[in-house]
Amino acid sequence: DRRDGLGVYTADPYAYDRVLFNNENAVIIQDMFPKSSVHLLVLPKSKRNVLHPFKAFEDPELLADIKVEVERAKQMVASELRRKYGQFSKSEQARIQARDADDPPNVLPAGRDWMKEIITGIHAVPSMNHLHVHVMSKDMVNDCLTRSAHYNSFQTSFLVPLEEFPLPEDDPVRQIGYGPWHTVDLVCWRCKKNFSNKVTKLKAHLAEEHDQWKRE
Ligand code: 5GP
Ligand code: ZN
Repeated sequence: DRRDGLGVYTADPYAYDRVLFNNENAVIIQDMFPKSSVHLLVLPKSKRNVLHPFKAFEDPELLADIKVEVERAKQMVASELRRKYGQFSKSEQARIQARDADDPPNVLPAGRDWMKEIITGIHAVPSMNHLHVHVMSKDMVNDCLTRSAHYNSFQTSFLVPLEEFPLPEDDPVRQIGYGPWHTVDLVCWRCKKNFSNKVTKLKAHLAEEHDQWKRE
C-alpha cells in the first residue's frame, strides 16, 4: 500500500540517504515531496506509530519523547536555513560584518533567529499511515507544491501543532476530517493577500515573498 511508504525508514534507517538522524525514539527524514524549501519529517519508532495521531499521542511518554525529537528537527531546519539564506539576511550580514571587522565589538549583534521561521505539526487526517510530524520552513516554496490542498493543509487548522496534544475528548479539531479546510481560499501566509483558488498566482506570489523573507 502506497500509504505505508513511511514505514521503511523506521524499519531500516541505514538503508536510506533521506534519513538524516536516527536514535532509539525516532528517525528524522527529508520529505520526498517537500512543500517548503526545507521540509523534514519526524517518524516515531514506537509501536503506537500505526495508530491515528490523535490516539497515538494519548501516550504521554511517546508525546514527551517526540517533542524532544521535533525540537531537534527544528534545530536541523534552522541550521539549514542559515546555510541557505544567511548570506542574504540583513540581520545575519550585520553579525558577519561585526564579527569580521578590524575592531570587532565585544558583543556581536544577534543573528537572525531561524527557529522562528519554522512550522511544525500533524495533519488532522494524514495521507500516510505511519505517525509523522512535519517540521518545515514557513516559505511554502517548492516545485512539489502543486495543489491548493497542499498549501491549505499546512496553512489552516488542518495542521495540528504538537502542543495541542493530548487533544481533549471534545476538541473540534477531532471533527475536521476532509472538511471545508480543503476548499477555503488560498491566503498568503506572509501578507494575507487572498488568491481565491488560483494556485498558480499564489505560487508566483510566494516566490516573491520568499525573496523578501530571506532578506529580512
Ligand atoms: P501527510 O499528509 O500524511 O501528513 O504527509 C505525508 C508526507 O509524506 C507528505 O509530505 C509526503 O510528501 C511525504 N511522503 C510521501 N511518501 C513518501 C516517501 O515514500 N518518502 C518520504 N521521505 N516522504 C514521503
Ligand atoms: Zn504575500
